[in-house]
Amino acid sequence: MHCTNCSETISDQAEICPKCGVRTFTVKNYCHGCGSSVKENQEICISCGVSLKRKNNNSNGEKEPWLMALLSFFILGLGQIVLGQTAKGITMLVVGIIIGMITFGLSAIITLPLAVIDAYLIAKKKKEGKVVRDWEFF
Ligand SMILES: [Zn+2]
Ligand SMILES: [Zn+2]
Repeated sequence: MHCTNCSETISDQAEICPKCGVRTFTVKNYCHGCGSSVKENQEICISCGVSLKRKNNNSNGEKEPWLMALLSFFILGLGQIVLGQTAKGITMLVVGIIIGMITFGLSAIITLPLAVIDAYLIAKKKKEGKVVRDWEFF
C-alpha cells in the first residue's frame, strides 16, 4: 500500500509510515491503493477504484477504558480478555485466584487495583490507536 500522507510505498501491515511518521488513513492526501493524489472528501479513488474510507476498523480500538476497568474489577482479567489480551487475562485470573486462596483474599487489595488500572490503561492505549502487544502491561 501507499502512505496516505506522502504516497511512499509501505508495508500493508504498516500502521505508521516510516518515511513521514504519519499514521496511515489519518491524513488523506494520496490513495493507499495506487498512490495517486486524492481530495479530502473523495470516497473512491478515480485512478484505481479503491474505497478511500478507513479500512482498518479495529474493533478492539473502540472499547471504553472505564468500562474495561469495571469488568476487571468484577472479574479479575476480564477487561484484558475483552481487549484481546486473552492469555494475559486468563493468567491474571488464575494467578489472582491462587494467590487469593493462599493469602485468604488479602492479595485482592493489591491484585484488584492493579488489574483495574492495567485494563484502563491498555484500553486507553488501544483507543488512541497505539499498538498493544498481547502481554503488555499498563
Ligand atoms: Zn508517509
Ligand atoms: Zn488509487
